[in-house]
Amino acid sequence: MQTNSNTRFVSVLYATCITIVILVFVQTVVIGNARYTKREHECAGRLEQIGQALRLYAQDYDDYLPVGQEADMWGTWVRKCEPYSQSVGVFRCGNDTTEMLPLMQPHSTGTSWAGIRISYGANGWMRREGGRWTVRGVMGLHIEGVDCPAQALNAIRSPEATILVTEKHHPGNMSDWGPGCVFTGVHAWDWLAPSVIPDGSRATEKAGAVTTTHGGLANVLMVDGHVKSMRPEATDPNPSGHPDENMWDASR
Ligand SMILES: [Zn+2]
Repeated sequence: MQTNSNTRFVSVLYATCITIVILVFVQTVVIGNARYTKREHECAGRLEQIGQALRLYAQDYDDYLPVGQEADMWGTWVRKCEPYSQSVGVFRCGNDTTEMLPLMQPHSTGTSWAGIRISYGANGWMRREGGRWTVRGVMGLHIEGVDCPAQALNAIRSPEATILVTEKHHPGNMSDWGPGCVFTGVHAWDWLAPSVIPDGSRATEKAGAVTTTHGGLANVLMVDGHVKSMRPEATDPNPSGHPDENMWDASR
């Protein structure tokens, strides 16, 4: 009898321990997800604010969005849009692990001539057509050899399904300097930060330069101002078969 009751006691103890372990595990997963969801929501909110700032900018410039990058390396869309936003903090996603200040900061002041590293890139997709570069996205580059203008908001035919800004967490993506803050698709500028747009028909690297730190998804700000959580390849699932579904192409 004594042995039986000992065995029962040990069994109950085991069962209790296993239950506690399971409960702790479940709780950790739930809290982890809640934190993750909170960050994803914060990120989506920041993109919405960027959308509002760009809309305010366009109101001041005859409905034109800023150019992604001016001929001087300092004239980025972020720098132009920032005065219309609440703070420079809206340009950072909570899941971005890059250092906020670029390496070339003068440490004494804690600031940098390149501004801050940002987590978002604008749609400045360009293609070589008829011997020259043509902007098919919404913000071109004014740099030498490319010289593509910005677009007017009212010229974009499918604002609800055309990408304005999405996630790009990369050390070369800076607020005040260089076209790292744009998805250009122009490989000459890849040395600063990769800029290739997604392609669902590619065998690998379907997401291109879009960062997916929210469980394989990225937050995407559309031209009409709404933010959607998407797999990057869903923004351009089949470029050759269905160019009409390429959300980077503002001319479609
Ligand atoms: Zn994010």
